Amino acid sequence: MRSAVQERDETKAPFPPFVLTLEATVFNRKQLEDHLRTLGGAAQIALAGRSNVGKSSLINALGQRRRLAKTSATPGKTRSVNLYRVAPHGFILSDLPGYGYARCGREEQRRWARLIEEYLRHGGVTALALLIDCRIPPQNADRELADFARAAGIPLLPLLTKADKCSQAERSRRRQEWSRLLDGVLPLAVSSRDGLGIDDARRALCALAAREEGDVC
Ligand code: GDP
Repeated sequence: MRSAVQERDETKAPFPPFVLTLEATVFNRKQLEDHLRTLGGAAQIALAGRSNVGKSSLINALGQRRRLAKTSATPGKTRSVNLYRVAPHGFILSDLPGYGYARCGREEQRRWARLIEEYLRHGGVTALALLIDCRIPPQNADRELADFARAAGIPLLPLLTKADKCSQAERSRRRQEWSRLLDGVLPLAVSSRDGLGIDDARRALCALAAREEGDVC
């Protein structure tokens, strides 16, 4: 059985930062569909999570960039899908809008939920990286998205964000808790602040993309 304790492994070779280029920012289904047609079959890994989970910070950390994706202390500001090309591997990271932000209206939340569901169902998504705040117990919205992806046959990579804010014991407990909900899939703990797990996240994303494309990594 894999250990619930995930700490730095100094013996592993570092995984080079992704070179991320923003290919497109799309605001609705039509624009998304139009752009997906231009991707030429590249693997797409979607990144999703509740507003403020640390998604923009993680994208910046994966690319070792400061401000590629815009981070904010104010949740709910991302209203678009951002598609990043990952060099040298060639796959796409699709940064989906954060969900569960109470101050955005019901109708708008529904519209975004429909867009995400459509994209996961029909957009050719290779895998879903589900970002979950390490400090917060499993929330319905996260569980529903995980269940949706699994029902659609999309492999899941759960990432526990802001790991620097939790003790090792809390991280371990949270990982086990999620693993039980996800039939044994153990999340990776990551911190964009101190770099914990970022190399492993790059490696895991690349491996998921490689399943689709053969030899990208
Ligand atoms: P997004 O809304 O999911 O894109 O979240 P952001 O990346 O904008 O982050 C939301 C807030 O959490 C910001 O204040 C970030 O500085 C903070 N944050 C993001 N990642 C981390 C992390 O790994 N550790 C800590 N301590 N704070 C983080």
